Amino acid sequence: MSRKRMIYEGKAKILYEGPEPGTLIQYFKDDATAFNAEKRAVLDGKGVLNNRISEYMMTRLGDVGIPTHFIRRINMREQLIKKVEIIPLEVVVRNVAAGSMARRLGIEEGTPLPRTIVEFYLKRDDLGDPLVTEEHIAAFNWASPQEVDDMVSLALRTNDFTSGLMSAVGIRLIDFKLEFGRYYEGEMVRTILADEISPDNCRLWDVETGNKLDKDRFRQDLGGVTEAYGEVARRLGIIKDNGASDNVVAFNGGAK
Ligand code: UDP
Repeated sequence: MSRKRMIYEGKAKILYEGPEPGTLIQYFKDDATAFNAEKRAVLDGKGVLNNRISEYMMTRLGDVGIPTHFIRRINMREQLIKKVEIIPLEVVVRNVAAGSMARRLGIEEGTPLPRTIVEFYLKRDDLGDPLVTEEHIAAFNWASPQEVDDMVSLALRTNDFTSGLMSAVGIRLIDFKLEFGRYYEGEMVRTILADEISPDNCRLWDVETGNKLDKDRFRQDLGGVTEAYGEVARRLGIIKDNGASDNVVAFNGGAK
């Protein structure tokens, strides 16, 4: 069998040509990067967990009517997705001050925000993904006003649903990053949720202890990164064990 054709290799995922027109295969690597890829590591089993967590989140969001690129999981590291044209913006939703916003505005990390804040960052690694406003987006035509409306509305719906889902399993959704794509269906183009939703792009804190269950464990050298991702998967009922990396391979067995 010939190897699939690679379309794109990113920091944590690879995209291959899909089996049918209009589809792609999204492969989750174990690679972790932070600080614009200045810090790198391979975290055994992270890709397997993120594939499962993102499958779960996209499926649940789809159940409540949020359009996503997810079609189905293929195996431990791959999922079939709809091919979209990625809108070159990262959409960050924040409920609690943390990370770059806490630093930039001098707000103590962990301070609840008076209202949910949606921010846009331009996807440009060479510029360190700068914060941009709707004025920039309109002026440089990175997305249409309709697409900006769609992204804000879908991001807020995703926030409400995911906050509730996480809260039910003792996790606080602090903030997260989404990416959207243009999905072409005949004459129509729709804005749909793309990329992934996993502890790589969310901040998730344990409600009781405040422990970080996300990529900040890697950014801040707190250790136990894969174990924390496994804990999120376990609480959501995606896996049965504690998610230790050698169990991650055992739990799945290719079953859906
Ligand atoms: N985030 C991401 N990719 C990025 C930048 C941010 O997934 O390139 C996520 C990050 O994990 C967090 C949220 O977006 O959940 C807000 O990140 P922030 O701007 O605070 O970034 P930091 O500089 O702390 O990574």
